Amino acid sequence: MKIHFLSIALSFVSAPLFAQQTPQALADAELPSLIAIYKDLHSHPELSTREERSSAIVAKELKAVGCEVTERLGKYSQPELKGYKGYGVVGVMKNGSGPTVLVRTDMDALPVHEETDLPYASTVVTKDINDREVSVMHACGHDIHMATFIGVARSLYKLKDQWKGTIIFVGQPAEEAFGGARALLDDGLYTRFGKPDFAIGFHDRAQLEIGRVGVTEGYTYANVDSVDITVRGVGGHGAYPHKTKDPIVISSEIVMALQTIASRENDPIDPIVITIGSIHGGTKHNIIPNDVKMQMTVRTYKAEVRERTLAAIERITKGIAVAAGIQSDNMPIVEVLRDDFTPATYNNPELTKRLVAAWKKTLGAENVEATDPVMGGDDFSEYSLSDHSIPAVYVHVGAVDPTKMAESNKTGVPLPSLHSSKFAPIPEPTIRTGVIATTVAVLDLMKK
Ligand SMILES: [Zn+2]
Ligand SMILES: [Zn+2]
Repeated sequence: MKIHFLSIALSFVSAPLFAQQTPQALADAELPSLIAIYKDLHSHPELSTREERSSAIVAKELKAVGCEVTERLGKYSQPELKGYKGYGVVGVMKNGSGPTVLVRTDMDALPVHEETDLPYASTVVTKDINDREVSVMHACGHDIHMATFIGVARSLYKLKDQWKGTIIFVGQPAEEAFGGARALLDDGLYTRFGKPDFAIGFHDRAQLEIGRVGVTEGYTYANVDSVDITVRGVGGHGAYPHKTKDPIVISSEIVMALQTIASRENDPIDPIVITIGSIHGGTKHNIIPNDVKMQMTVRTYKAEVRERTLAAIERITKGIAVAAGIQSDNMPIVEVLRDDFTPATYNNPELTKRLVAAWKKTLGAENVEATDPVMGGDDFSEYSLSDHSIPAVYVHVGAVDPTKMAESNKTGVPLPSLHSSKFAPIPEPTIRTGVIATTVAVLDLMKK
């Protein structure tokens, strides 16, 4: 009742300005305040699972627009975080009966030492979960997302006369690590606050000009799996290899052979990426070690391709060990880190078409780009559930100066990517476009 009264009061107060109550005009009006919030968040980045200050700001802003706010949501599955409450924030904005739409921002930053020279650059240094001292930076733009999200909440509050239903605003912790979206769902996001009919997510993009959005129909991000392999051999003197089973030679064969999963075992139209990002073995020139440890990231789209690829990794790894004469009790240990899995992000094609039409109308057809899918990952996918039964769309928002983009295209010198210490989105137009695009999407799904 109170919320309803406030909304009547507000529309009464702003009645003379009614003609200007468009998503664009509201974004323009809020921009100075959103930029101040953005710069403050940028100078105070927090690592995954430690989003105390950021989540408090998000919670405060959601309360200010009449949301029922719940804080400290999130139940992590990792043993080292058992019993630890996440910094998830849920704000429910009710406006009569109608569809339920989930809008998500992430909140965490990265262990990166900022090198942007911006006046509001981060100088934060902290200890990570392993007690190592690290610099912290919003190198993925989750600060842009929080400011955008606050702008969207403010706009939709003021536009209550144009929509009906329930909006669930989700401030998600730990996107970069530890599976924050899963932690929120495991802590009852859908059982306590309701299952949405649609979910909307957004991300700034380091390869897209400001003022533009990019979206992919269907798969846009990949399944992300982490796999650890320990190849066990029999160590000895480097001068007498015949007295050993050299795990470095065996590992080298495994590294090469795993690439044949993508090139020889799978439909080439359907991508697989296997990257061995870490390989460690041995201590000195002339010692053959007992074992070699490898860590890899495995990217796929379809669930069946994922399972087949993970099985092939194990089969090939063990097969090469057998070929090298490793005994059955000394086979390689292949461990898929199931807790670290991020499912593929799938943009519901019908919903994507619908929102693209709305964006073209508002932003201009030339500012809505059909973006190619990539093999990156984002746990926004969790909100649509593993069978993609909740239609979801994840949209990219341009963050780059067009002249720099043109220059980069001409010279071939790449611009700083997401996660780069030099990544510096242009805040005003990025946040403005993000606010307008997300507000328009929600309005389209909930219009009266
Ligand atoms: Zn990131
Ligand atoms: Zn990100």
